[in-house]
Parts: sequence; structure tokens; C-alpha cells
Amino acid sequence: MLSTIHIDGAALRHNYLAFCAIAGKDRVAPVLKSNAYGHGLATVYTALKSEDPAWLCVNYVREAAELRGLGFAGRLLVVGPAVPRELGACAQLNAEPVIGNDDVLKAWLALKDRPIMHVKFDTGMGRQGFKADEAAAVVHKLASHKQQVAGVCTHFANVEDVTDQDYAKEQLRQLEVAAAAFKAAKMNVMVHAASSASTLIMPESRLQLERMGISLYGVWPSQATRISYLQLTGRVLELKPALSWRTEVTSVKAVASGQFIGYGCTYRANHDMTVAVLPVGYFEGYPRLAGNHGSYVLIKGQRCPIVGRICMNMMMVDVTHIKGIKMGDPVTLIGQDGKETAHAHDVAAWAQTIHYELLSRLHPDIPRQLAPSEG
Ligand SMILES: *Cc1c(COP(=O)(O)O)cnc(C)c1O
Repeated sequence: MLSTIHIDGAALRHNYLAFCAIAGKDRVAPVLKSNAYGHGLATVYTALKSEDPAWLCVNYVREAAELRGLGFAGRLLVVGPAVPRELGACAQLNAEPVIGNDDVLKAWLALKDRPIMHVKFDTGMGRQGFKADEAAAVVHKLASHKQQVAGVCTHFANVEDVTDQDYAKEQLRQLEVAAAAFKAAKMNVMVHAASSASTLIMPESRLQLERMGISLYGVWPSQATRISYLQLTGRVLELKPALSWRTEVTSVKAVASGQFIGYGCTYRANHDMTVAVLPVGYFEGYPRLAGNHGSYVLIKGQRCPIVGRICMNMMMVDVTHIKGIKMGDPVTLIGQDGKETAHAHDVAAWAQTIHYELLSRLHPDIPRQLAPSEG
């Protein structure tokens, strides 16, 4: 790989502590799934461990194993789909699965040594979980197997895309119905629902645990969330982006007016240009659709428009206005260079997607580096 992802550990800790200030220190569960949203699982864990997080969340049992291997001894919540063949490994890691259907529950209850677990309810996401009206039957099953239940949880479908939270409020109401069945059976469960956006803008959703994903990385879930937060609190919350993605110029060439650039001849030079070739394309995780949409990279603190389609391992940028550009010059794909910043959400928008997808798809083989003072 001819690019590097730099991770600012102090920014990660700042964002984590900002959520601890909102929700309470031991109630924030940073989500490190999907290679820590592309930031690098081990890198992010290394940066966070000085804060001694009480909880971490992952999607896969494999990710839970990696965190245990790195020495994480705290509570570990596996939010991804639990499948029977992985439950034994999950239990051995003392990782807590989130179970939301009868087949998986049956397989779990058949294990000899079972740690504590969480029960998931589908309150409107249409994805994983029992329905709220199944809660009493689930409680009965758990009680008859003397299964200890840590938590009862759900996931919101529609918080970050809207400023009106009626749908989420109905989801919360159903979660309360489900939780009541556990409490009626004297099961002392924690109830949790919130991810980044709901923690920020729906105080009533905070309950006993916040599963903090995107905001840990210093990115707002959405523009609507940012505006809602300001309206709700009258305060500006500073989240600090932790990731910068940098590469280098691999060649510089003259392109005459009228010449085409890239596959499909979608770009035609309308003046004599200088073009730099960069060694990053959609294989590395720079989305193919991002070319030709007012998109840019940063070189010497200036925007350089992407010209033509993004290739598999390369892209071309207009550097006509950059004096003295040469092979090896540093390039910022995501991050700050001087007064300019290329935000993850900008790159995502050029490609008609969201920063969640862009970040989580940054190729895992790109080296992740913490600032030298870290780790
Ligand atoms: C990914 C995920 C989160 C984190 O969501 P963000 O919007 O990134 O904060 C929380 N809960 C569950 C179940 C998830 O899958």
C-alpha cells in the first residue's frame, strides 16, 4: 500500500470523554466493530486503553477474541448476529452475546458454561430481535434455565436522518414494555438502546448504557443530529476527527487542452493542465463514484480537483495551480492540510454514500499509525 492512515489518539480520547461527560463514565461502550470503523481495531484499542473503558462493543466473535488477545479484560458486548456455531467461542471469551431469536437462544441455553447475555428486541428496526409481546415467554425460558441476563436492548431505526424523534420514542415505549416483563420476574436487567445520535439528542434514550460508534471517531452521525444537538442544548459540542489518510504523488505529467483523462473519457481538459497521479483507488477504499463531482484532495494546503473516474488503484488530480509539484509530495485524501480540510463526510457525499460506509471500507491492509507519542 502506498498510503497511510494516521490516528490521533488524543482525539479519540477527547470524543470518548465527551460522551462520558454526557452519559457517565462506566455507561459508555465504544463500538470497535468493522476494524474500528476503518481506524484499525488494535490501533484504536491501544489509544483508548489508558482511559480504561468499562465496556467495548464489537460485531464479530473474532473481534472479541482480538480484543481479549490485546489484553482487554472489561465487559465485551457482541452486537452482531449471533450464530449457534460461534456461541461456544463467545462464552469462552467471556463476551456477552446479544440474542434475539429462539433458535439462537436454544443453542445458548444448551451450553454448559454460559456467561451473562443480553436479549434484543425488535422495536421498529425490522432487523434483529424478539417482538415486545414475546418478552414474557422469553423470560420464562430464561428463568427455567437459570440464565442470568445482563441487559435488554434495542436499536433505533430513524434517529440520525430526522429532527423529529417520534418514531424512536415509539421504539423506546416498546422497549419499556419488554423490559417490564424482566423486571416483573425480578430480573435485574440494564436497559440499553442508544448509539451516538440518540445519546446526543434524545436524553430519554440514554438509559443504562450508550453504544458509541461514529462519534468516538470524531464524526457527527449526520448534519441533522448536529443541528438537533445545538437546538436541544444551546451548546456546540466539539468532536475531533481522529483519522487522516495520506498518500504521495507518484508522477506528474502535462495534459494538453482537449485530451481525455481516465476510463470512459468522462473528463476532457479544457486548458493545458498539469496532472498528478496518486496511488490510491477504489481497491484501497476511495470510492469510484467520487471522481468528477467537485471532489478534491489536498496538496500543499490547496484543493486539487479529482479529474476523471477513480481507477482500481489510482486516481488523477489537477495540480496546474500547485507550484513546484513533484513526485513524492504528500497528499491528504481525508484530513487537514494547512487551512483546508477534506472531511470524510465530503468524500462520502461525492460518492453518494455516508461517512460510515466510507470509513469502514478503508482497506484493512493500509497501515494505521498512531501519533509517535502514543502506545
Ligand atoms: C453500530 C452500532 C452502534 C453504533 O452506532 P453509531 O451510530 O455508529 O454510534 C450501536 N448499536 C448497535 C447495535 C450497532 O450495530
